[in-house]
Amino acid sequence: MMKNTKGKQRIKRKHQIRDHSLCLWLALLLFVAGSAAGCSSGPPDAAEVSAPAGAVDGDGSPSGSGPAVLDADETLTVSYIDVGQGDSAFVRLPDGKTLLIDGGEAEYGQTVIDCLEAAGAERIDYLVATHPHSDHIGGLPAVIGRFEIGAVFMPKAQSNTKIFEKLLVSIQDRGVKINTARSGVRLFPDASFSGGMLRAEFVAPCGDSYSDLNNYSAVLRLAYGDTAFLFTGDAESISEKEMLSAHSSEELRSNVLKVGHHGSGYSSTETFLKAVSPQYAVISCGAGNKYGHPESSALDRLSDTGAAVLRTDQLGTILMSSDGKTVTVDKKSAPQQENAPPASAEGADPSHGGADVPPSSGASAHSDMTVYVTGSGGKYHRDGCQYLSKSKIAISLDEARAGYEPCSKCDPPR
Ligand SMILES: [Zn+2]
Ligand SMILES: [Zn+2]
Repeated sequence: MMKNTKGKQRIKRKHQIRDHSLCLWLALLLFVAGSAAGCSSGPPDAAEVSAPAGAVDGDGSPSGSGPAVLDADETLTVSYIDVGQGDSAFVRLPDGKTLLIDGGEAEYGQTVIDCLEAAGAERIDYLVATHPHSDHIGGLPAVIGRFEIGAVFMPKAQSNTKIFEKLLVSIQDRGVKINTARSGVRLFPDASFSGGMLRAEFVAPCGDSYSDLNNYSAVLRLAYGDTAFLFTGDAESISEKEMLSAHSSEELRSNVLKVGHHGSGYSSTETFLKAVSPQYAVISCGAGNKYGHPESSALDRLSDTGAAVLRTDQLGTILMSSDGKTVTVDKKSAPQQENAPPASAEGADPSHGGADVPPSSGASAHSDMTVYVTGSGGKYHRDGCQYLSKSKIAISLDEARAGYEPCSKCDPPR
């Protein structure tokens, strides 16, 4: 689980973070041991999937200062934090720097803080507030009050809500200036690591005036070597269309798509999904939310792409990592009952501590666990089943029981 660190030359800052994170890691391992909280700084274990050929643009046009060269073992990790009905993603870059995209509703500010602290973060080097809706920026003032902030990126969108004002005040109090996020803007100059080229570029918003705040969403594409992650905020079809005309599909293609607008039917248009061509589609939403997210129309389109759908309302916080060649998903995030604010004792079931194999007794206890089906088959499977190599769609065991037969090969819970 933990990587050995080699004694090569490293950037000083990374040293600090690593040393701290080692201690925190030990504490965290004892504390979490398979819990649903799932916020971690280390590379997740389990389910390694090769990146599709040409997953990344490969166009690493050099810009700014020269590339930093680090050790070969550096990984990029992403935590899609369970903030109920909202969005928040925390990224540790291969050089140890940190990136936070959104912070959920105000009541989840502490959840985000806990997650970053558990990961050993001391500061947020890059903060992205995708757009001024409270389910994205609500928790940020608390987070900004807790951590030092390097740079802030926001779209040029205004809102007269109290929470937006609070966000601006908290940024001002930190004395940090706001950079405008729009298509073509980069978080930092490209950098080379042994795993590959690291690049973080906004691909939206492409325009500057929209009737719906969601379409102002700053959409960030984070590419590392052959792998890429796309963070879409609440971008809807209008923005998706603009991205398609402003960028080639190579510039959008990503292994992991944070699905737009919590899986709303107004996002995830067919042509956009085709361009992005994700292996994994992460939906950040709250269980039983009043908006009906995710909507079946979006889920259908996602399943048509063949992407594995991972939902925070079913899995809690979702952890992924990239070594520049493959994206690894940690499936240990235990299924959660409700989207109760901090994901604490709930799901701290030691039986989830070991890899992907869920316990197989007590069917009723697994009603909210995730199993997998294929686009065409009538059976449902455990993660890792050989029949999932072509198509893999996450559904709850309850849904599976209703419409599918258990696979006899992998023998999932019934
Ligand atoms: Zn939202
Ligand atoms: Zn929104």
